[in-house]
Amino acid sequence: TVLLRFAPSPTGPLHLGGLRTALYNHLFAKKYGGQWILRIEDTDTSRYVPGAVDGIRAALNWAGLFYDFGPGLDGPHGSYHQSERLDLYHSYAHRLLASGHAYRCFCSPDKLATTRERLARAGSNSTYDKACLHLTEEEVSRRVRAGEKSIVRLNDDRLPDRIPAHDIVFGDLRDAHASLPTDPVLLKSDLFPTYHLASVVDDHEMSITHVIRGEEWLPSLPLHLDLYSCLSLKPPQFAHLPILLNPDGSKMSKRKGDVAVLEFMKRGWEPEALINWLALAGWGQGAHAELTSTTRSPESTAVLTLPELIEQFDLSSLTHRRQVLEPSKLAYLNKHHLMRSWKSDHGTLCHARGIHELIRTSFPSSQYTTPEYISKVIHVLQGRITNIHDVPNLAPYFFVDPDYSTPEAQRMRESILNDGYRLSLDVTIHHIEAQPDTRGVANISPLVHAACDATGLQQKIFMTALRHALTAMKVAHFSFLLAVYFFSYHDSFP
Ligand code: GLU
Repeated sequence: TVLLRFAPSPTGPLHLGGLRTALYNHLFAKKYGGQWILRIEDTDTSRYVPGAVDGIRAALNWAGLFYDFGPGLDGPHGSYHQSERLDLYHSYAHRLLASGHAYRCFCSPDKLATTRERLARAGSNSTYDKACLHLTEEEVSRRVRAGEKSIVRLNDDRLPDRIPAHDIVFGDLRDAHASLPTDPVLLKSDLFPTYHLASVVDDHEMSITHVIRGEEWLPSLPLHLDLYSCLSLKPPQFAHLPILLNPDGSKMSKRKGDVAVLEFMKRGWEPEALINWLALAGWGQGAHAELTSTTRSPESTAVLTLPELIEQFDLSSLTHRRQVLEPSKLAYLNKHHLMRSWKSDHGTLCHARGIHELIRTSFPSSQYTTPEYISKVIHVLQGRITNIHDVPNLAPYFFVDPDYSTPEAQRMRESILNDGYRLSLDVTIHHIEAQPDTRGVANISPLVHAACDATGLQQKIFMTALRHALTAMKVAHFSFLLAVYFFSYHDSFP
């Protein structure tokens, strides 16, 4: 069975890129009946942001990606905070020191910087001159005992046979080792491990079978494989996800607040739509898409819920090409998820998400703000709502009495002769009152057509009269018919 992990660093809010990584871990784990861990990689104390873990958990929770083990959900491999696992990393570092695959380095940060500059000036690719590799054992223990600060480095002269670097998405990586620093640091002088050591140790200790993470970690893969072979451990399989781009081609990760997942929540997007949008970026376009896919890959705008995404998921159909996240696709998917949620559960999902609050703050003096009423409004507007936050602007007339004093309303009123106006309203009211049951859009529509015919007026005039009376707005389409259904304004028409 498969076990995966999503391993964010608590350095700020969860961004779209991070959510995409969590999502793919979730899809893969659930597709194969496995589980996933939320692992908090908090070993870089200088970049730790208080509250970030709560923010990440809140974002995952909102998105409906529930981890099986992690903070608050203890399991066999805890703690799930790396800062609480330091002893473990130390024991692995000692193993590497004892086997000669690693050594202690006492060079100060200043000295290291000077060395780096000197090597670069001399045209060398090395980033360190390995000075401390040649210290005698006695000298090392003396300096350690004297409390001198040191770091632990991998000795890249002493590597066992290299494991060829292969990635499920990117394929075989040739010359992948070329870009590695000289003798990469494993343990820092504050006794915290670097990302590389901690990541390898934990993936092994937690029995991770597949590592799915962002492309930015692909250059680290050879180093991780080196660590696995130095420790004689079997590496998991790796899949790196292509970098996400803004429509202008810039890297999405370079943008700040507006790519935070919880911002999307605040702006009214449905989590199902966001998940759908992220999932399909790059899906079904990979080199092996046609060959290996058991199900046909969905179109890039297929409206799919999380269970459907899990069912159709196929990692091998993923492209390694960089993917543009197109905002218009999110809008499209959002609209369709709203409509779907109406069909399946009468919109209870979107209702839970602050729409009542939004309506109440947008129309503080409105008496039409009961949850049942708001549900009905959204029901009749579906298909026209891209984002639930559009509701107040799209159809204010459902919540406040018409304002007949606006220039728009006055122009509408002036465009109809007084006789035509009264006639339209009187005949419509008459038709409504003669109907035993006017509930439901289906009943209202023929009724209004019949009323129009009865007046003998031009349809345009008739409709404008009704729109004016009911909403004082030139609202699009037939929404005013629905307003008739919801209100019985006719006592107060001007
Ligand atoms: N802590 C790394 C990050 O924040 C995780 C990399 C990995 O998944 O190995 O992206």
